[in-house]
Amino acid sequence: MASYKVIKINGVAISTGNTKLGAIPSVSLAPWLSCHRNGPRDCTRACYARKLARLRKNVSNSWESNANIWANNPSCYFDAIRKFLYTTNVPRFRWHVAGDIPDIAYFNNMRDIAESFGDVHFLTFTKSYNIMALPDLAIPKNLTIRVSAWPGLQWTLNKGVMLKRGYPIAWVSQLKEAGAGYTDTIPSDAVACPGCCDNCDRCWANDAQHVVFKAH
Ligand code: SF4
Repeated sequence: MASYKVIKINGVAISTGNTKLGAIPSVSLAPWLSCHRNGPRDCTRACYARKLARLRKNVSNSWESNANIWANNPSCYFDAIRKFLYTTNVPRFRWHVAGDIPDIAYFNNMRDIAESFGDVHFLTFTKSYNIMALPDLAIPKNLTIRVSAWPGLQWTLNKGVMLKRGYPIAWVSQLKEAGAGYTDTIPSDAVACPGCCDNCDRCWANDAQHVVFKAH
């Protein structure tokens, strides 16, 4: 079985992979310091990352430390990711196994990094609908933004613009918190996540619009 590790650069913890992603490196932020709330039925209670953080203190500490480095010294945080990409030559990089895009300045750095590393394909999932709805948001082809449909108030309000902009969407099924009717809105052509990314590229394809995950 492949073994993965956490590399620290400028104090920023970057994971070289995990059992779900396979050998795809990632950087994460503590959800409680970076995610947006999505209205009355927000995602806090069902968040798998928060569950993992409660079980594994070292993981929780790394995510929290990354978020603090970003908040106090954003250049240090993004330089660490650039250094990692310069030195490892990886073909893919995943933003935020935990956490989300906290603000537009953060997104602009993600975009700049994607433009600097044209041979790397970047992927993130986001519920930062307010950022993704901004007009004239330039997104490089090698940065796939997959918007997570969440059955809270803000999704209902933002669904139309997210679909109109053509973002690939990640839906969630079998969610206890989902309100009546949410499941019916999952498109019939949404492809179910098989569970391990080693042999699946679905989420990375900009033209693959709908993927559906079971709540976990
Ligand atoms: S759909 Fe495929 S690429 Fe996306 S998370 Fe599931 S296994 Fe990974």
